[in-house]
Amino acid sequence: RRGAELTGKLLAFSRRQVLQPTAVDAGAMLHSLADMLRRTLDQRIRIEVRTEPGCPPVLADAGQLESALLNIAINARDAMPDGGALAFACVTLAPLSPQLPDELAGAADARHVEIRIADTGCGMTDEVKERAFEPFFTTKEAGRGTGLGLSTVYGFARQSRGAVTISSQPGAGTTLRLVLPCVQAEHRPDEGDDAP
Ligand code: ADP
Ligand code: MG
Repeated sequence: RRGAELTGKLLAFSRRQVLQPTAVDAGAMLHSLADMLRRTLDQRIRIEVRTEPGCPPVLADAGQLESALLNIAINARDAMPDGGALAFACVTLAPLSPQLPDELAGAADARHVEIRIADTGCGMTDEVKERAFEPFFTTKEAGRGTGLGLSTVYGFARQSRGAVTISSQPGAGTTLRLVLPCVQAEHRPDEGDDAP
């Protein structure tokens, strides 16, 4: 099973994973992930979710998105061994929003959703931040870290026509921003055209 998982992660990183994008309600996904984490993580980690009302669906592979969010949350847990706060949020980025990551400049005329995962953990030095998306880069001891969490998240984000960015400082916590495209009208055959 571990071999299969590893292969899946490597394929995702090399952008060969077969993704099945559908319309995903990121806010609902964050709430159910938070419920699961509240039951399973250390009680000293406070978990909160703030979703924007009416946040539009994103176009992404639901299973891969969930696993990306879980990877990010597990990193946050590892960064807060004595507890802290883990905050999930999602907001709409309007077309041409100045908040859009540079990688998405070519798609700036489209709407995106930004999913933010912020922790109050140990944070990262500049050196770690620069290498965090590298496959097999880990600062954790052997057997604890594989260095494949964030590289997989990066591969998933780019393959989904989105982007992922980190802001972090040692001692000041970490915020991951995962930006994904919203579902375009033509991907929503259920709404509109065929209606009587
Ligand atoms: P792993 O968790 O197996 O080490 P990842 O690819 O998930 O691999 O993360 C790579 C490295 O980035 C981690 O070893 C850690 O140094 C750093 N990192 C990732 N997320 C966080 C975080 N939330 N806070 C502090 N450091 C982090
Ligand atoms: Mg990890």
